[in-house]
Amino acid sequence: MTDSSSHKIELAKKFENGVYFSCEMCGSCCRGFKEGEVYLYQDDIDTLAKHLKVKGTSGLRDFAKKYLKVVNDSFFWKKPGAERGKTYRFKSLGFRFTGDDEHCHFLIDNKCTVHEARPFQCRAFPIGWNMLINSVKNFKNYSKKCPALQNSLENKGKYYSKEEIVKWANEEYEMEKNYFFIMKKHNFNILKVYPFLSKDMLRE
Ligand code: SF4
Ligand code: SF4
Repeated sequence: MTDSSSHKIELAKKFENGVYFSCEMCGSCCRGFKEGEVYLYQDDIDTLAKHLKVKGTSGLRDFAKKYLKVVNDSFFWKKPGAERGKTYRFKSLGFRFTGDDEHCHFLIDNKCTVHEARPFQCRAFPIGWNMLINSVKNFKNYSKKCPALQNSLENKGKYYSKEEIVKWANEEYEMEKNYFFIMKKHNFNILKVYPFLSKDMLRE
């Protein structure tokens, strides 16, 4: 990623004229998370907590223990005018998974039971994922698990224009950048950013 003041969404050549994508609701991307995480940011947590009618700090604490875990995250930042930037590494929140197939707690009978309140990462897949739209290699790797991405590579599915893709990808970038700045302000102490987390969650 680059300096936000000149941040430009990079699209792989293949996606410069748009992306085709129609989810087939197979639920495969909601399980088997050994290869990755579903990251959640403050807005995602607020929306989910509201949807699940979580009340007060103790409610949030229980919600976090059951559904969330602390995961590693990173962000490349270069100060405006600086010659070089650096990649910062810090903690973030992701979904805790369950069962032998490591599925999301909210996947029941192969359906997302929090569809209208699902996190940005779930809503934005794949057009808002910078790491997919800027790399055909990553896109192909993810397609091994996702039939809709396989179709997409053959230009099958609903059409999303370049403008739509850039809008979603920008939203992802801004969300990650905002979280980076909040963490930086709190000396990268996630317990200060999310006071409802218990210290035990850092040791898991
Ligand atoms: S793996 Fe692909 S097709 Fe299946 S639910 Fe996820 S996005 Fe949809
Ligand atoms: S919130 Fe819904 S879409 Fe997202 S991983 Fe869980 S079940 Fe899948």
